[in-house]
Amino acid sequence: MGVIAPYGVFSVAGGAPRVGVRVGEGVIDLAAELGDEVFARPSLNAFMAQGPRRWAEIGSRVNELDATYALDEVTPRLPVAIADYVDFYASEHHASNLGKLLRPNAAPLLPNWKHMPVGYHGRAGTVVVSGTDIVRPCGQLATPDGPVFGPSRRLDIEAELGFLVGVGGARITPANVAEHVFGVVVVNDWSARDIQSWEYAPLGPFLGKSFATSISPWVTPLAALDAARIRTPIQDPEPLPYLRGAERWGLDIDLEVRWNGRLVSRPPYAGMYWSPAQMLAHLTANGATARTGDLFASGTVSGPARDQRGSFIELTWNGAEPIAIGGEPRTFLEDGDEVTIAAAAPGPDGTRVELGEVRGRILPA
Ligand code: CA
Repeated sequence: MGVIAPYGVFSVAGGAPRVGVRVGEGVIDLAAELGDEVFARPSLNAFMAQGPRRWAEIGSRVNELDATYALDEVTPRLPVAIADYVDFYASEHHASNLGKLLRPNAAPLLPNWKHMPVGYHGRAGTVVVSGTDIVRPCGQLATPDGPVFGPSRRLDIEAELGFLVGVGGARITPANVAEHVFGVVVVNDWSARDIQSWEYAPLGPFLGKSFATSISPWVTPLAALDAARIRTPIQDPEPLPYLRGAERWGLDIDLEVRWNGRLVSRPPYAGMYWSPAQMLAHLTANGATARTGDLFASGTVSGPARDQRGSFIELTWNGAEPIAIGGEPRTFLEDGDEVTIAAAAPGPDGTRVELGEVRGRILPA
């Protein structure tokens, strides 16, 4: 099998959105080329629900087709009607950094962290496609005189990967994840740190996160990332049996974060403590069903080095260590700022698989 191309939804010159495959700098209109109505739809959901045999069949037929449009002729759309959205917290470096910043006199990791992939339910309805402008959120901000309501002053990013469920189920085992997960997108989980820090106890993230989550437009099939599979770090203590798989694999994917064009971080996905299979197993372990269109994201990807941190609260150490952007010392996002997160992975035979990028610009509140 050759290269497995990424899928998305696009429109041309105001026409109806439809499913396409990206091949280099071109896009194949699958409904037109294959005559299958499952692709004449405004989301990938119907195709994703058909399962891995069908994904493989279409993946191999795509290699025989020529591009219908040039990439710059099409407008990318949100590729999936997002069903439920869960965000995990799977990087030990990120969780430790946040622990040190938010609870400086306590152990960096909470007692549960090495026993389960910690996560929370996010807001599916505000997942947007790359290129969508992000309006600065408003909310309650703590001050010495009590809370005030106003625009966030500590608007941040989180560089993550997201996994899209094609075939649903309950109590999915780690060994079965490839039967359920269709593909991978790059995620920016926009985060208002001031809203978040006042509201989050005791029930976790809420309005500091729910205003917007951006994803890349082209979904890289999980099968295209076989050459990127690696072992996840040693897990000590050993997790409970339902989180163990025959093979505990992670993904050797390199992320790049650009702030107004300046490369500020290269977070390595390879070091993530919890695997995608463990995340999906955990989120369905209680009997809750996953369904077609579910998005579960990894949580911020951070490595051990400063220039591998996947959020600005970590990069600037809660604002104490500004970084120079356009010659100015900066800590959090200003109106007009643009952030781009890109990702790439090893492909077959020494090639690289580009997962594309997720981009967003901040508009005033
Ligand atoms: Ca997050």
